[in-house]
Amino acid sequence: MMDPKQNASFDNHEEVVFVGGEAQGFAGIIAVHSTVLGPAAGGCRIWDYDSAEDALTDALRLSRGMTYKNAMADLPLGGGKAVIYRINTDRVDAFQRFGDAVEALGGRYITAEDVGATVADMRAISGRTSYVAGLPKEAGQAGGDPSPATAFGVFVSIKALLGGSVQGRTVAVQGVGAVGFNLCRLLSEEGARLVVSDVNRGNLQRAEALGVEIAPVAQIHAVGADVFSPCALGAGLNERTIPELGAAIVCGAANNQLATEADGERLVARGVTYAPDYVVNAGGIINVCAEYLGEPADVVDGRLRAIAPRLLNVLENAKSEGVPPHAAADRIVREKLKAARMA
Ligand code: NAD
Repeated sequence: MMDPKQNASFDNHEEVVFVGGEAQGFAGIIAVHSTVLGPAAGGCRIWDYDSAEDALTDALRLSRGMTYKNAMADLPLGGGKAVIYRINTDRVDAFQRFGDAVEALGGRYITAEDVGATVADMRAISGRTSYVAGLPKEAGQAGGDPSPATAFGVFVSIKALLGGSVQGRTVAVQGVGAVGFNLCRLLSEEGARLVVSDVNRGNLQRAEALGVEIAPVAQIHAVGADVFSPCALGAGLNERTIPELGAAIVCGAANNQLATEADGERLVARGVTYAPDYVVNAGGIINVCAEYLGEPADVVDGRLRAIAPRLLNVLENAKSEGVPPHAAADRIVREKLKAARMA
């Protein structure tokens, strides 16, 4: 049995549970990083890891990330994450059993969709536990696909960074999938010029209908633009790409954009303003939270609009403290957690 405490990504997680097993037809891990601000919320990722230890590393890292994202967004939620790394039975059956495991945590962990999971999986889970979000939307309620909300949070952030208008400004968008496409739509409606890249031909064609220009996948970060917006995969800001960046602002939805902590310093040294990913991409969890708490869609709108002033506050803090924006954001979250623990 793996010992989470021996894993380099362990960060005083409150609880790490190994779920499933040979007889149950699936294997997974639920990591509850923190319940200081509320039940630990974070999606369930289905992924084919090289080893169970890799799955554990991801669960530990992602659940900690959710604590930071949820706290920064002022949501009444802590941070958690589940990963399922093996399914060797009927999928509905596996997710029902996973639902039993979530239920056994008594509400300390709330699950939802993440990479590899579907609305149908959430429905199977919901047959066994109420601690699940990401279900189909009902009329007048928040819920359903979180990507439009994520895109909106990134959009208002880009707008704020450009002084209130995107009209006539150029944004280079890396990845026009669920979030990137919605972001392009919002930007184009307000008169921005768009240059995009994607490895998926179909997604590129969909974006082309918005009148975007297309750049080669390997060049998008270097395109001369006002803003570079990573909306594909993580670790896109690294030793190789940062010296080549063609924009003075980076603001996008991708999780874990900085390959290493040192890349945050590198961006500062190059004079690039970096909008910390988890500050600006919280729209999805804001949507999921509203769905879970049964809040109407207009509550979501207020929380989404709060993202831009929050980002500007983080950047001001970074400047006055002389630290990179991601470090200022982390410090703000740690203080929120400390205050909540003492309350
Ligand atoms: P998605 O899979 O719908 O879209 C990702 C797109 O990136 C796809 O079109 C894919 O083909 C493209 N892509 C992959 N590799 C690429 C590359 N090297 N260069 C250019 N394009 C590439 O995913 P999504 O839901 O739009 O999420 C995008 C990012 O935002 C992810 O990092 C995700 O973790 C993060 N995020 C998403 C949400 C949400 O609400 N969906 C919330 C928070 C964060």
